[in-house]
Amino acid sequence: MTLRVGGLTPLSSSDWPGMLVAVVFCQGCPWHCGYCHNPDLIPPRGEHEIPWQDVLAFLHRRQGLLDGVVFSGGEPTLQKELIPAIRAVRALGLKVGLHTGGMYPVRLAAVLPLVDWVGMDVKAPFADYPRTTGADGSGGRALESLRQVLAAGVDHEIRTTVHPLLIGDAELVALGKDLADRGVKHYAIQAFRTQGCQDAALCRTARRERPLQQVGTELAGLFERLDVRAA
Ligand code: SF4
Repeated sequence: MTLRVGGLTPLSSSDWPGMLVAVVFCQGCPWHCGYCHNPDLIPPRGEHEIPWQDVLAFLHRRQGLLDGVVFSGGEPTLQKELIPAIRAVRALGLKVGLHTGGMYPVRLAAVLPLVDWVGMDVKAPFADYPRTTGADGSGGRALESLRQVLAAGVDHEIRTTVHPLLIGDAELVALGKDLADRGVKHYAIQAFRTQGCQDAALCRTARRERPLQQVGTELAGLFERLDVRAA
């Protein structure tokens, strides 16, 4: 078996801040977030999978033009084939970044020594996770994964997608303070976007009463870097 890849972005400057990367979208995710931008990547098998060998051949041709590769999803740590895939990318001299929702903390711990940067979603206050993910126990898994990322000392960005129905402004500020207390250095809050979202209620009610930038001012100074990505 090789890594199941549901999509490939040949060049991105936004998926790993400061780096020019290709993004490999891994197929499959156990959660069902209403705002998911990539619902086609949730099932274990995709309709338009790209053979891993083709991805590797593409990356080979891009050596010298890319800084690295980000494994995204879906959920990359779902697949045990992620580790040999990362090793193959490193063998090309490329850096490796990982996007994760943190649902598999044990698998994540095995991957962390192999990556240069992690972008991890923290979707909600940990006790309220199922409201966003639809999965019981998801908050405990995400919290354990966050602990793993911080203990590994790997460069990271923790990010929260903000939809007014899923997390209120006061909850968001409390979550940001909690993350800073836990040792998060780089935090990003990003406004929900309707692109790809299949939940009609979330799309209808995306309007915020208060600009996200304004909420962000309440978190200023808590992190080495705080990014506020308004819609
Ligand atoms: S964890 Fe990510 S890929 Fe999985 S359903 Fe949620 S947003 Fe989509």
